Amino acid sequence: MLDFARAAAAVGATSATLEKTRILGGYFRTLDEDDLRRAAVYMSGRAFPPSQRRTLGLGWSTLSKVVSSVSRRDEAELGEIFRKHSDLGDWAAEALDGSTQPAPFSLQDVDATLEAIRSARGNAKVAPLEAMVRRMDPESARFFIKIVSGEMRIGLSEGLVEAAIAEAFGVPITQVKRVHLVTGDIGETAVRCKRGDFEASSVTLFQPVRFMLASPVETPGEVFERMATGKVWTEEKYDGVRCQMHRQASRVELFSRDLKETTAAFPELTEGAPSIGHDVLFDGEVLAHRDGRVLRFFELQRRLGRKKVDADLRRDVPVVLVIFDLLWLDGRTLLDEPLTARRELLEGLGLEHPYLLARLEEATDPEHLDRIFAETRERGNEGLMVKDPLSPYTPGRRGLAWLKLKRPLATLDVVVTAVEWGHGKRKGVLSDYTFAVKDTQTGRLVNVGKAYTGLTDAEIAEFTRRFLEMTVEDHGHVRLVRPEIVLEVAFDSIQHSGRHLSGYALRFPRIVRIRDDKPVEEIDTLERVAELYDRYFGEKSEVALSEVAET
Ligand code: AMP
Repeated sequence: MLDFARAAAAVGATSATLEKTRILGGYFRTLDEDDLRRAAVYMSGRAFPPSQRRTLGLGWSTLSKVVSSVSRRDEAELGEIFRKHSDLGDWAAEALDGSTQPAPFSLQDVDATLEAIRSARGNAKVAPLEAMVRRMDPESARFFIKIVSGEMRIGLSEGLVEAAIAEAFGVPITQVKRVHLVTGDIGETAVRCKRGDFEASSVTLFQPVRFMLASPVETPGEVFERMATGKVWTEEKYDGVRCQMHRQASRVELFSRDLKETTAAFPELTEGAPSIGHDVLFDGEVLAHRDGRVLRFFELQRRLGRKKVDADLRRDVPVVLVIFDLLWLDGRTLLDEPLTARRELLEGLGLEHPYLLARLEEATDPEHLDRIFAETRERGNEGLMVKDPLSPYTPGRRGLAWLKLKRPLATLDVVVTAVEWGHGKRKGVLSDYTFAVKDTQTGRLVNVGKAYTGLTDAEIAEFTRRFLEMTVEDHGHVRLVRPEIVLEVAFDSIQHSGRHLSGYALRFPRIVRIRDDKPVEEIDTLERVAELYDRYFGEKSEVALSEVAET
């Protein structure tokens, strides 16, 4: 442990990143596999690799109790030392100096202690922590406490730990990153790089793999330019939540986009697993799906983050998994296989409800792609995923092999009815604009949202001047203004809302243009908002089952 502490101190003592990498790389080279695995994790400021989903559950009060008992210092004294450092490790090192009986101990001892602390409950955590601290020299204590508190504070990002692994074992940094993306575990990454075990860019079931991501594009032409291929695959862009499903025999685990385990929230997907008949790792999207129809995201939200799902909720909001990728099948990692091969294997599984396959189409030119896009829009989807059929699955990467084609659903021409003073950078200018459409039944203007993005600073300054002149009521922070300024706004969706008289609210509105050319009489109407709502977001917007290819 002392070697670990010395290396960490040396890394902390220099601000040059190359030097940090060199020192750490040199230290990693001296370690056997077991210690390397531990050291790489600890240097990243963690007690356990995130993929193991273990946490220490150790709070400040236990820590200070132990340091106080070993150092025989009272709370006031410890508080004073802490204020000097504002770092738990440095605080512990000074507080404990001279009051421990240092004896050598290994990283394996550290490992065993961390596990003992983790598995103990409440006050029982004190004993293993105290036993360890009593044996520590101040330098080891400094870094042990840093590991325990989850922060090394030696200017070492995970990226630098990767660079040090590359340096230690003469492996290209891109290779190290790739192994890390697949394993999701810096310790395991270090060991595989030491062994030169790259074949093993292999997936380990039940360790979540980082998700492949898509880059945004706005036009079909851009898709073909960026992808540089003559043929693309399209899939609907489903509006649910991303989900990775690992299944081996009777064991099933699900992971969300941030790699948290979400198995408990979707029991349907676990219960159906025996029907799959193979060991698999799927990438897909969970959708709420009832009576052959996909329900709105709003419904699915009721299922998210649950530890337990009661029968009523399962009946009201049942879920399915729409699968679009297969990363591992019966022991074989498929990351480097082209999408075509992965899809073929996926189709060969003959999946049944609640496992569906993403609807797939092929486009060979921008016009064709535009048609598919228009059709998916008609079905009420916000966009299309476009994928290079020959691409491998690149975990964690937002590259050009997957593109998401999204365009604003529609824009609305609205008039500004009230304005507010901005905050922060926007202090002193009127930057938040409440806007309205026309209710033709009553002839009144009714508010449907508030926008504060899309204008340049110069435009906001000019608007501030105009709105000050146009104010009809000054309520301090908010001013009602004469409804004369027409804006074109884009938005992500429309919701029912009790906040506005109109009964609707646009979500994430942004100003796309100032329509000084448009008279207020010609702005959009409440009927148009209602029509868009019904078409895309209301009950009728539910995507029909036929849109999800049945297998
Ligand atoms: P965004 O959240 O706008 O960055 O879009 C990417 C997300 O779209 C992914 O993380 C998935 O959750 C979701 N998605 C929906 N349908 C698909 C699909 N067919 N392929 C890949 N991702 C999809």
